[in-house]
Amino acid sequence: MTDDAQAPADQHARVVVIGAGQAGLSVGYHLRRLGLSPGSDLVLLDRSPSTGGAWQFRWEALRLGAAHRVHDLPGMNAMGLWFDDADRARPARDVVGEYYRRFEQHYDLRVRRPVAVSSVSRTADGELCVAVRAADGSTTRITAEVVVNASGTWGTPFVPWYPGRDVFRGRQLDTTEYRSATEFAGQDVVVVGGGTSAIGFLLELDGVAARTRWFTRRPVVWSESSALDLESAVAAVDEQDRAARAGETLPSIVSGTGVPVSRRIRAGLDRGVLRNEPMFRELDETGVVTADGEHVHADAVIWATGFRADLRHLAPLHLRTAAGGIVVEDGRSVDEPRLFLAGYGPQASTIGANRAGRRIARQVMDALADG
Ligand code: FAD
Repeated sequence: MTDDAQAPADQHARVVVIGAGQAGLSVGYHLRRLGLSPGSDLVLLDRSPSTGGAWQFRWEALRLGAAHRVHDLPGMNAMGLWFDDADRARPARDVVGEYYRRFEQHYDLRVRRPVAVSSVSRTADGELCVAVRAADGSTTRITAEVVVNASGTWGTPFVPWYPGRDVFRGRQLDTTEYRSATEFAGQDVVVVGGGTSAIGFLLELDGVAARTRWFTRRPVVWSESSALDLESAVAAVDEQDRAARAGETLPSIVSGTGVPVSRRIRAGLDRGVLRNEPMFRELDETGVVTADGEHVHADAVIWATGFRADLRHLAPLHLRTAAGGIVVEDGRSVDEPRLFLAGYGPQASTIGANRAGRRIARQVMDALADG
């Protein structure tokens, strides 16, 4: 229990959903269909200023056509909206932000934003209590029968420790801090990471930066199909599920699926822009030292090294295992069955988050009926 849980609650809701990205909106939509009303029964909270979940923060050069594929929210087609019909040359963040805004309005989801959930705890009576901080710094508390956490990963980029990270005098940034290649015009740039973000940055930096070098912990596995190969995708999702059930830190999806070679990536490979090297040994003041001992000068190091589930606000529930995760089966916490995790583990893609919405909403209704 925390101090948050001691004070009387300001509101009671049957269900609180934390996060209004794909996963939270999908759950919210299904709960509305199953009869919950926004406001009294159902409260959706999001700390970001606008609609679109993490997509609103993605860099401008990430066009809809360059994303893997953003799946439609359930109920979006009934509104006449399909991502497949959208202009693929528009920044993905603008299209997703606009479609989600129309979706929220159409289905009257009344998302409260920007409000950040600072903690979820148990009151002295054992009720779940959600502490919510508004933009003006004030905090309110909402008790809830059920909490659905759909907070995504964007808030917790993962940067691995390498010797010399603290002595390098150039700029270091992670994926969430990348805005545009023009910031690196004429610079020597090192990019770290074997996923699609790193590849996207290298392609954008080509012809803008003076030089780029690309380092990855594992060899990059290219998948020759232009979309994600279904079989390896299924295996990767199964591995996420196994890790979630075991309460382990979740592995990266792309390590299981390989990187699909789109036309743009093929052109980059042919131009020699996408030539990865084994991870460097260390950083020094002016660059990095490769596994072979070569010194590579760098003005900037971009760490495109993935994300972890953003679950810090759940800490007062003490659900973390020694293996670093939360034990989750079919979207539900095993140790706190009033808590659901949408978009977590095997659900962590726009299609996974979508499907999970329906399954979790049904389970939430059962939990309310049992409660
Ligand atoms: P998010 O979209 O991250 O939404 C979470 C929401 O929770 C946010 O709006 C955030 O403000 C809110 N939130 C977080 N913490 C709190 C808190 N404490 N209090 C209140 N609100 C909170 N997937 C695909 O299927 N196709 C792609 O092409 C694709 N491209 C990707 C590209 C990049 C660079 C990255 C990083 C990921 C990509 N993904 C892609 C995965 C993608 O993140 C998911 O598909 C999808 O956005 C996840 O939705 P979500 O609802 O789980 O999380």
